[in-house]
Amino acid sequence: GAEKGDGALGPIQPEIVEKVDHLVANTRPCRQMQTKLASCPIMQPVGQHPGSSSSIVRFPHSASPARPEFTWSRTAFSVIVGPCSIEGLEMFEHIARSARTLGLTALRGGIFKARTKPDSFQGLGSKGYEIARRVSREVGMPLISEITDPRQIDSLAPVVDVFQVGARNMHNTELLKELGRLPQPVLLKRGLSAYLDELVAAADYIAAGGNNKIAFCERGIRTFERATRNTLDLAAVPYLQQKTGLPVIVDPSHGTGVPSLIAPMVWAAAACGADGVLLEVHPNPKKALSDGDQALTPLDLEGLMPRLQRILEAVGKPIHQLA
Ligand code: PEP
Ligand code: MN
Repeated sequence: GAEKGDGALGPIQPEIVEKVDHLVANTRPCRQMQTKLASCPIMQPVGQHPGSSSSIVRFPHSASPARPEFTWSRTAFSVIVGPCSIEGLEMFEHIARSARTLGLTALRGGIFKARTKPDSFQGLGSKGYEIARRVSREVGMPLISEITDPRQIDSLAPVVDVFQVGARNMHNTELLKELGRLPQPVLLKRGLSAYLDELVAAADYIAAGGNNKIAFCERGIRTFERATRNTLDLAAVPYLQQKTGLPVIVDPSHGTGVPSLIAPMVWAAAACGADGVLLEVHPNPKKALSDGDQALTPLDLEGLMPRLQRILEAVGKPIHQLA
């Protein structure tokens, strides 16, 4: 993402440890969702975090569904939602529970961010692993997260189910070659000014190493138009599908940068045959440390689902559910 969160924000405190009173508040929406969600985990306080006076809270182990193995699909529609960056436990849990309740496919959330400016928030880095691991296990949903450097592979592999290659790294051939040697699926985003055939060539770098579990992501490109952050190129969807047979996921969050345009582009993506969408969701977009200007709230997300469902019924593609 681009330039939100400058040096003035100060150090980020990951909310790995939470106070128990927060919890009580947190369980309330959880109960409301129970009609839709069969196994709503009940949170319990368990012990003290070293060096902190607050209690660590965890879901009981037995209530944690196993994270299903992620596979890309061309016959089902993946709805992948989450924050631009994982900023803390509470916010990520909030989004993950909404996603779970809505029966969506997977979570997204940056741990390492590739930002245009070096003083923009770069992600929680290693502090984000624990949050990512806990939340994706709690809700039993796979996690898609960006890798910006091959040296992150060993530490990301235990928590990340799908490696996202960001737009700024589409041309990073060393990274692509390393991902080619791994078993994990890859979401390959289109470079800011990349031709579609360059995107296909980038996928060839990954596939050359033996990993063909690749999906493309159309996330908008640079054009002369400034009313939107990028110009979402929906013709890329059938082009890439026809050319490669691989799934194509549309990212209308970066593709438009304008919250009110995101739902219509989700519906358009489904109608033109896309294999899924990648959406940035934040419980409090105004407070987001990256890409808050384009974030949907969990309520916005819920609001766009009925029409999406109707379009998916019309095109004969159910929502991709792994659990
Ligand atoms: C993101 O998905 O948050 C992101 C940084 O996207 P892109 O690489 O497409 O800019
Ligand atoms: Mn972003």
